[in-house]
Amino acid sequence: MYTFGSFINGEWQPGTGEVFETVDPSAPGTCVGRYSPTSPAGLRTAMDAARRGQAEWAALPPAERSRRVVALLDAVEARTEDIARAVTLEQGKPIAESRGETGKSLREARFMAGEAVRGHSAVMPAQKPDCRNMVLRRPRGVIAAITPWNFPILTPMRKIAPALAHGNAIILKPSELTPAPACLIAEAAEEFLPAGALQIVHGGGEVGAALVSDAAVDGVTFTGSVETGRRIYAAAAQNLAELSLELGGKNAVVINDTDDLERCLDQVFGAACQCAGQRCTAISRVIVADALHDAVIDGLRARAKAQVVGAGIDPATTLGPLINHDQFQRVSGFVERAVEAGAHVVTGGRAMQVDSAPDGFFYPATVLRDVEPSMEIAREEVFGPVISVMRYTEFDTAMRLLNDVDFGLTSSLFSNDSALIQRFLDESQNGMLHVNHGTIPDDHMPFGGIRHSGVGAYSVGPSAVNFYTTEHSAYLQSPGGI
Ligand code: NAD
Repeated sequence: MYTFGSFINGEWQPGTGEVFETVDPSAPGTCVGRYSPTSPAGLRTAMDAARRGQAEWAALPPAERSRRVVALLDAVEARTEDIARAVTLEQGKPIAESRGETGKSLREARFMAGEAVRGHSAVMPAQKPDCRNMVLRRPRGVIAAITPWNFPILTPMRKIAPALAHGNAIILKPSELTPAPACLIAEAAEEFLPAGALQIVHGGGEVGAALVSDAAVDGVTFTGSVETGRRIYAAAAQNLAELSLELGGKNAVVINDTDDLERCLDQVFGAACQCAGQRCTAISRVIVADALHDAVIDGLRARAKAQVVGAGIDPATTLGPLINHDQFQRVSGFVERAVEAGAHVVTGGRAMQVDSAPDGFFYPATVLRDVEPSMEIAREEVFGPVISVMRYTEFDTAMRLLNDVDFGLTSSLFSNDSALIQRFLDESQNGMLHVNHGTIPDDHMPFGGIRHSGVGAYSVGPSAVNFYTTEHSAYLQSPGGI
């Protein structure tokens, strides 16, 4: 059982208000954690501590900050098994995925720690004699971060590591459904940081809204739904705070031709059903050429049926539960309405009972065929293990279907035709483009989306510097110069 208050000014403090609990999605009667929400006064204290902590932290040389961030990551890594267990217990995903998520979060964070000591400043030619021009970067200041429930270690770490490495203080509010892993990071990090550099606050939308609306915040980074992203965009605008939003997706793969359909479908299915499809980068639409349509349906059906559905803590499980009852109803509702609209279920499509975990929110890997582009299931983010298959005759149609949604997160094309590949790279309306490759991103590549999938600088990779630092043009004229 995890019991955490807020981590404010270097101390764990009890909150005020009603304690909230997290539960195991495979056994919802089992309480996993108890947390007390942060009070408005607690938030105020955190803001003041962040300002002081940031000044102290930013005064350290960047190489020393980077060294301490690496030491902090070593301490987190030493707790990998505890963290993976917390991810599975609160979020539900298979324990192997939780270990993988923890490892990936550390690899990304280590890249960020190194990235912060690379040259981000520049010496520029000057227009005047006796002058030297420079472009410098400084820490942005106090960062407010809000994270969702689907990647409880990866997403907090994706914000904590670059914020600290670039000399900022960060106040993070993890999802109220999965707060334990972020608290475990703070516990491990404590000894390496000045008080106030990393703080954790708790609560739902109300606490999140208060955090991102605070005028003392210099930058707001949010990962979550489009609806919440819109609210946060408006709140940050009031203070003209810098913003980075990573939102939902309605990602598609176009399968035009491939030398190895089995390998292609392994990647597509993995990208669609890991974390029970509750991934922003999940492939939820398969747009397939007529010639391959039936083979793709057969291959997806076989993979869906091969899943071992059960509690994530059981090492045999390959597909865990959905996070909660709301999410379960959301996914079931999407599939029911798709069938009413004329889609056909190839496999799955209804709730399933797991004997060893009879109360869990289990939904099987589901494949739908005859999905039309106008259907809700082809346009809205489902956030469950549901694959909608659409077919095409002309590649023009495939590209139109690919881009015919509001989102623009990630996309994939399987083809050996270089002209089609070039076209996909130019025309896919998405932040991330994969060719002959599923949508799982590398640890050091910019991560983000366009259109309704994101606003502002991408995270990870070299892009994070644009959000976590401010830019300054400096002109140094010799005292005797004109
Ligand atoms: P959500 O938007 O409901 O909640 C996310 C976080 O925002 C939670 O911590 C919540 O407490 C907080 N929140 C809610 N209202 C708020 C407000 N008014 N002001 C400030 N904070 C508020 O999202 P979710 O259901 O937790 O996560 C699922 C969504 O996240 C999906 O749409 C998914 O696609 C998206 N997501 C995107 C990415 C990405 O990188 N693009 C990654 C993971 C998840």
